[in-house]
Amino acid sequence: MRRISRRAMLATTGLGTLSAGLPTAWAGNPGQSSAAQENGAHSQKYSLPLTDYQPESMLHVQTTHVSRSRFSVIDFHTHVTNSARVVNGVAIGAARVYNGMPQDLLPIMDRTNVLAMVNLTGGFADGLTDSVSHLDRGYAGRFYSMTEPSYDMFGRPDYPQVQADAIAQAHRDGARGLKILKTLGLFLRENMTSGALVKVDDPRFDPMWETCGSLKLPVAIHVSDPVAFFRPTDRLNERYEELSNHPDWSFASPEYPSNAEILEARNRVFARHPKTQFVALHVGNFAEDLEYVSANLDRFPNMHVDIAARLNELGRQPRAARRFFDRYQDRIVFGTDATPHGDRFPQQAFGDALYQIYFRFLETADEYFDYAPAATPPQGRWRISGIELPDSILHKIYNQNAARLLNIVV
Ligand SMILES: [Zn+2]
Repeated sequence: MRRISRRAMLATTGLGTLSAGLPTAWAGNPGQSSAAQENGAHSQKYSLPLTDYQPESMLHVQTTHVSRSRFSVIDFHTHVTNSARVVNGVAIGAARVYNGMPQDLLPIMDRTNVLAMVNLTGGFADGLTDSVSHLDRGYAGRFYSMTEPSYDMFGRPDYPQVQADAIAQAHRDGARGLKILKTLGLFLRENMTSGALVKVDDPRFDPMWETCGSLKLPVAIHVSDPVAFFRPTDRLNERYEELSNHPDWSFASPEYPSNAEILEARNRVFARHPKTQFVALHVGNFAEDLEYVSANLDRFPNMHVDIAARLNELGRQPRAARRFFDRYQDRIVFGTDATPHGDRFPQQAFGDALYQIYFRFLETADEYFDYAPAATPPQGRWRISGIELPDSILHKIYNQNAARLLNIVV
């Protein structure tokens, strides 16, 4: 009886505490006597809320502090600016907000050996020119801004050409690439925020992808999200706490396509535009399945990946990750998703601590350490191990591959 009621409770509590999650696993242990299950002392013993559970590791392991990267870094994935207005997952208008000012970022960059930050969300029109003038031109060689599509114009019959022209103008205005947020595939609808969902491979974007190819602007593309976000937020979900903290990150409802559908649509775009260079962010948006990402990289020579906000995945499979880096060492770029003052998301909060974790993962053989500067691991309750890359690969990951994509000399 006790087990049934616990499950029923879990099924109905999206924001439940772990007081339900932990004991359920043990209650299901066939080796446990029913007498123990019915024992009141037992249930009290395991009634610690998950949010209060912060175990301190008793493991003695090597701890290497890497304060600066071995080679200077181009952080290919940052958000110095963002759209000022977002409605139902779709950015509205050109206005930008600055998450941090360059004079505050530069001392941290200098300390950690970050040569440049690529501000992916540079926006378009006036927002882009503002970002380029404050960042790219204000501090040459330290910041690079990318442009974004103007979904405001999506309803226009001439959108395909107008959007392509806007990319060409953005290039003239100083944009170094195009960023696609997960808006495409999950939120953008025919009437922007209403109507049928627009697919990633919608042909109306074809002139935009082609223009990026002809102007040698790399496309940094984020579609879909961790596969656990497409599963119910329940006791079986390995990202339960994170989804409980951010219920709007769940795509486990029928109104959304599956992770696989979104990625396959993205792959058709890669296939249709072989002269356009795509950087599939967050390890190709499927770091949980490096075999799938590897198969895609083998299929599409114009595909690259970054590693932003996926140390949690790479570092929990360090041997597979090391083989992945060995094999695709020319097509992986360093990125963090760093967001100044992004304290709500510790895995991307810009600062010394964030960069030092990335350096430790890439450069050392340390085991079982935190993948984010946070008391509780924010993207799944586990720790990671380093992959100890040799200098020849580190150099490519830290700056050479990104420099080639961005057409800059380091
Ligand atoms: Zn990002």
